[in-house]
Amino acid sequence: VSAVRLSEHVHLIPGGVNSLLVVDGDRALVIDSGQGREGGKRVKRALEALGATPVALLTSHAHADHYGGHATLLRSARVPVFAPPIEAQIMAAPLLEPIYLANGTRPGAELRSPWLLAEAVAVDDLLREGSFHFEGFDLQVLAVDGHAHHQVAFVVDDVLIAADAVFGGAVLDKYPIPFAVDAALQSAAARRVAAVDARLAVPGHGDPAPPALLAAATLQALERVEATVLSAADGADLDTVMERVTVALSIGDLDLARHHLQRTAVAAHLQAHVEGGRLTRSITRGRLRYHAA
Ligand SMILES: [Zn+2]
Repeated sequence: VSAVRLSEHVHLIPGGVNSLLVVDGDRALVIDSGQGREGGKRVKRALEALGATPVALLTSHAHADHYGGHATLLRSARVPVFAPPIEAQIMAAPLLEPIYLANGTRPGAELRSPWLLAEAVAVDDLLREGSFHFEGFDLQVLAVDGHAHHQVAFVVDDVLIAADAVFGGAVLDKYPIPFAVDAALQSAAARRVAAVDARLAVPGHGDPAPPALLAAATLQALERVEATVLSAADGADLDTVMERVTVALSIGDLDLARHHLQRTAVAAHLQAHVEGGRLTRSITRGRLRYHAA
């Protein structure tokens, strides 16, 4: 796989997870390194093909499929690693991602594949909203939390590197419930993407497209999930909501890992409805149920 040049400095390494290089002469910033050793090797090959050496690894958010290649890259070039707060802690202790997906319990083998569990990486400095200057590189960093606790997007040239703030249409068709830890912030992040003045946006998964187009498809999917969860929730507990939403959205039976991901996303939507005053909660005989407000 060779990199595709999107603008003066931005090169896309397309794949199941998109990795990006910001190249200036013979030096490059790596943004997201993909999944596992393979992800790292893919980035390494793309750097070699461009004759560029990495000067830093940037991380949009601490999902293993986005930073899993970092450790491999760092073994051949010890460069600084940047990531948003909280995500930096997860990267230092990668089992935290499977742990939160397992509701805090020791995660089973199904949550410990390279998709959800990466090699640990020490983060040297934090990425926050604002300008990012490093070794002559100049990027704009946008906070787009919601899909992850802290997630950032980057603007370079006229390209928005949006990570998982938005998804391509094909990805949304395949997975109708985008992963979320905060559903309200996730919608706000997609709306933020829509307002970015850039020619192209690159989602974490899927093909580049104008920001407004990707944001519209993502918002449409999120609104559908939001409405489906709300209408499924009255009198139901989380597992009943899961069952009703799965049927309503014609989602087939999932494997254990995807079940945990979907459960987290549905719980995030329920929480947003509670905080928005649309649902209340009761606990009887050990069962937490939601009620239309
Ligand atoms: Zn993600």
